[in-house]
Amino acid sequence: GRASRSAPLASKLLLLGTLSGGSIVAYSDSNAEANKKEEQKKKKVIVLGTGWAGISFLKDLDITSYDVQVVSPQNYFAFTPLLPSVTCGTVEARSIVESVRNITKKKNGEIELWEADCFKIDPVNHKVHCRPVFKDDPEASQEFSLGYDYLIVAVGAQVNTFGTPGVLENCHFLKEVEDAQRIRRGVIDCFEKAILPGLTEEQRRRKLHFVIVGGGPTGVEFAAELHDFIIEDITKIYPSVKELVKITLIQSGDHILNSFDERISSFAEQKFTRDGIDVQTGMRVMSVTDKDITVKVKSSGDVISIPHGLILWSTGVGTRPVISDFMEQVGQGGRRALATNEWLQVTGCENVYAVGDCASIAQRKIMGDIANIFKAADVDNSGTLTMEELQDVVDDILVRYPQVELYLKSKHMRNINDLLADSEGNARKEVDIEAFKLALSEVDSQMKTLPATAQVAAQQGAYLAKCFNRMEQCKEQPEGPKRFRTGGHHQFRPFQYKHFGQFAPLGGDQAAAELPGDWVSAGRSTQWLWYSVYASKQVSWRTRALVVSDWTRRYIFGRDSSRI
Ligand code: FAD
Repeated sequence: GRASRSAPLASKLLLLGTLSGGSIVAYSDSNAEANKKEEQKKKKVIVLGTGWAGISFLKDLDITSYDVQVVSPQNYFAFTPLLPSVTCGTVEARSIVESVRNITKKKNGEIELWEADCFKIDPVNHKVHCRPVFKDDPEASQEFSLGYDYLIVAVGAQVNTFGTPGVLENCHFLKEVEDAQRIRRGVIDCFEKAILPGLTEEQRRRKLHFVIVGGGPTGVEFAAELHDFIIEDITKIYPSVKELVKITLIQSGDHILNSFDERISSFAEQKFTRDGIDVQTGMRVMSVTDKDITVKVKSSGDVISIPHGLILWSTGVGTRPVISDFMEQVGQGGRRALATNEWLQVTGCENVYAVGDCASIAQRKIMGDIANIFKAADVDNSGTLTMEELQDVVDDILVRYPQVELYLKSKHMRNINDLLADSEGNARKEVDIEAFKLALSEVDSQMKTLPATAQVAAQQGAYLAKCFNRMEQCKEQPEGPKRFRTGGHHQFRPFQYKHFGQFAPLGGDQAAAELPGDWVSAGRSTQWLWYSVYASKQVSWRTRALVVSDWTRRYIFGRDSSRI
């Protein structure tokens, strides 16, 4: 509908002519000319990456105003939160991926996709250099360059080994669909090897010792999936070795799931202990070989060696080489992620935007801006503030720092509320400026960088698309509404993240959830909430149907343990 509304009159007449037997051919030349001019006028947008951030941008972008090209080594989008379920066959790999061409075909095929890696971004000449993924075909592996007016960097992050010796060679990772498929085969291999004749019991035990390094959501979810798979399916097929199986979860901090509410961490620890999953906290991995993992116990300094059959390394994210190189070029060397402003523009590069795991919004501090805030509200920067003056100052802070609204509602802002009323709850007439500044500096210290999650990436992609859709309109009306003029020359409200909570599936059809408003829930009913949220978040009806049918199949027939 959008395309036909905005198509020039000439092309409509041409279409009419074609449909009615081609009698209006005279219009075709001028139409082609008009289209060509239109195309030339269109700004070139290049999107690097087809993950959560890239796809969410592409889905929401009005492509009638842009010439869009996408570069990604994957021609599909993967629903990463279900990757742990793929490792054990609860869900099939193809059920959680959707072809990018399928997603973009709804845009009338005007988005071009190149299956390639971008290996260099050249911000001076506004170019990206790319290498196709088909390395063994000389004709299809020639490097190419693309020019851009706007570049959207959404290449995500890669695994982080922290330089630990032997990790790259001997551990599994869980970042891509292929990783999940490799783990699935690896787990079954361990059982097939352990039952072979001629092995000692010690050798069998080693092959059936599954070690997970990292007690974050991915490590915990994999431990839970693996435990379910082994208890519900595998031990029935390999009964002779079921007593020898062990799962160990190694965490360097004091608790697993430490980004969650502490009630959830302790619920998860207790459940894992009941399930026989060995949770080892306060341990740092020193090195890994194909047979052992060497760890240091932080409290005692003891170094111990643990035999293993399979290790999953899941300890946070690192920087992709193309991003490290780009950061060096733009004076951001040594950072983990590209620094952007709150409008997601890469600091120092006006036409380059970065979204998702490869980016990090550089948080401005309210206290660094305090003199301007007082000046804008037309009040003195010392002494006391009347309630009206305080209201003006807070209004101005909220325009400059919309994210502070979150803190106003949370416990961190209680001391500001204390400023407004005395101990008996009576509203004060005046507020001491120094006490107010102290409360603000506490808010500053609470404003953290956003987590590397799909939720953040998808919201950033959608936000950026909205800005791009309004960019032309804003150029015509540069003044815009007052509240969009924040920060001097930006037409849009800065990006504001809305946290919708987080889940931790814990196996045995139980999950824990932390939902907005400090609401925590755990148990079987939360697992059903998890099923409905994850089904609804699927990128297409096809994957939604496949995922739900996989869950149903697992309930009826169990998981498939063939090694294919
Ligand atoms: P990605 O989704 O990683 O996409 C990056 C894209 O860039 C990919 O298409 C990749 O092929 C492409 N790319 C890579 N290199 C290049 C290059 N050189 N040139 C061009 N393209 C390139 N988050 C949640 O919110 N909830 C969850 O439950 C959750 N569970 C998770 C479970 C697992 C197992 C994992 C691994 C992650 C999970 N996450 C979850 C985190 C979430 O997946 C990431 O935060 C999210 O994928 C980040 O999105 P992104 O678009 O920045 O990067």
